[in-house]
Amino acid sequence: MSLLADVAVIGAGSFGAWTAWHLERAGRRVLLIDAYGPANSRASSGGESRIIRMGYGAREIYTRWSIGSMALWREFIDRTDPSLFHQCGCLWIAAPGEPFATDTAAVLSRCGVSFEKLEEADLRRRWPQFSCEPGAWAIFEPDAGALMARRAIQTLVRTSHLPYVQRAVKLEGASVQTNLGESVSAGAYVFACGPWLAKLFPEILARRIAPSRQEVFFFGPPPGEVRFGASHMPCWVDIAGQFYGIPDLEGRGFKLAHDARGPVIDPDTEQREPSPEALDRARRYLSRRFPALAGAPLIETRICQYENTANSEYLIDRHPELPNVWLVGGGSGHGFKHGPAVGEYLTGLLLGGDRPDDRFSLASKAEQGLAQSSL
Ligand SMILES: Cc1cc2nc3c(=O)[nH]c(=O)nc-3n(C[C@H](O)[C@H](O)[C@H](O)COP(=O)(O)OP(=O)(O)OC[C@H]3O[C@@H](n4cnc5c(N)ncnc54)[C@H](O)[C@@H]3O)c2cc1C
Repeated sequence: MSLLADVAVIGAGSFGAWTAWHLERAGRRVLLIDAYGPANSRASSGGESRIIRMGYGAREIYTRWSIGSMALWREFIDRTDPSLFHQCGCLWIAAPGEPFATDTAAVLSRCGVSFEKLEEADLRRRWPQFSCEPGAWAIFEPDAGALMARRAIQTLVRTSHLPYVQRAVKLEGASVQTNLGESVSAGAYVFACGPWLAKLFPEILARRIAPSRQEVFFFGPPPGEVRFGASHMPCWVDIAGQFYGIPDLEGRGFKLAHDARGPVIDPDTEQREPSPEALDRARRYLSRRFPALAGAPLIETRICQYENTANSEYLIDRHPELPNVWLVGGGSGHGFKHGPAVGEYLTGLLLGGDRPDDRFSLASKAEQGLAQSSL
């Protein structure tokens, strides 16, 4: 038996689901396939929440993709479920002279993104929840915020009525087979398999995309305390400290995570239990940066994985030997927000026959090394 489509999109995370959405809007018969379900708990897009921000240092293309993606996220969310986005803003905490922050401010200005620069005293006055080092300054993006990641992707697939089946797929020679023995017959195949890409294409990707273990902690504010919720404080990124966080959303807890790369894992078999070392590091940071939460209880944890390329640039390219097979991934800890832009870009390449920009090409991906930051 065959599953038929113009384009089969394998992987219903942010990259795959949005690619399927764009292709369908362009009039293609799409089939979306996922081994475990859209934004499942093993997937990188299966987390509770993800920051959408425009700041990207000097990497202007990603700022522009954030602007384009935000418009599509907003249009979809306003139409379906406004609770999928919290416009609480994003605060970048910077040390004096921090070049990433200076570059971010320059690019945001050039791209017409609204932002404020805050000196240490402004920062303390506006959000006394944060304890800041002397000389710290910040960039605040008021239009940024948090997307409810898992719910957003599941809502996108459901409300767009994208044809979807749950199957595990593999490439056998030039044919694509499911775990039920069906062949998937399509004019083109998009493998948007995030951290699984290296397992599916070991010869070309095993040394180019590495899934790293990332631990996320949710701490519980005291009873009746509202200052750590999204209506009282923004999402935040501590540039030098390599920590980031999201306010308490839907009563889940104050989210905090270390951006440094953990060990390489297998996304199918990894046991998702937190490690005492990572929890200890998170607690120490929490007490220092948010003294009112020192000693707050841990109320939830999540073990996710980044799907890293060496320089944190995405992979959007054809398979080197199979021109109708596309490889899409390498979100490297920052890809969720860009699902709409990645899908649009790939749809343009697929339908227009162009070559991808060099920065997204397979050839540009170094054969080893993990990106050391999601910025
Ligand atoms: C802790 C953490 C925090 C993050 N924070 C942010 C953030 O704040 N902002 C941001 O923009 N990004 C963030 N990211 C990054 C972002 O979540 C990822 O880059 C993005 O979700 C990747 O999406 P994807 O579609 O490429 O992969 P995934 O979401 O992993 O989707 C891949 C899908 O492929 C399916 N699949 C795999 N193999 C097969 C197969 N053989 N057959 C069928 N299906 C298959 C899987 O089941 C899965 O659903 C974060 C990531 C983590 C882990």
